[in-house]
Amino acid sequence: MKSDIRVCSAWQSEHDRPVYTLSATCPDCGAEAVNSAPAPFDPTNPHGEYRRSLKRRRRQ
Ligand SMILES: [Zn+2]
Repeated sequence: MKSDIRVCSAWQSEHDRPVYTLSATCPDCGAEAVNSAPAPFDPTNPHGEYRRSLKRRRRQ
């Protein structure tokens, strides 16, 4: 069975980081919890990683 992890829809204004929950509302602030599949924000930020590797390569 597919897990149904949701994320607080107001985490960007209410929390420092995404708050995940299995319920329909955020356990911290009570805001609506939305399906986390279509992420509104990418915490991995591949561009930051790419920039870091470029910087490292330039030092050599
Ligand atoms: Zn919240």
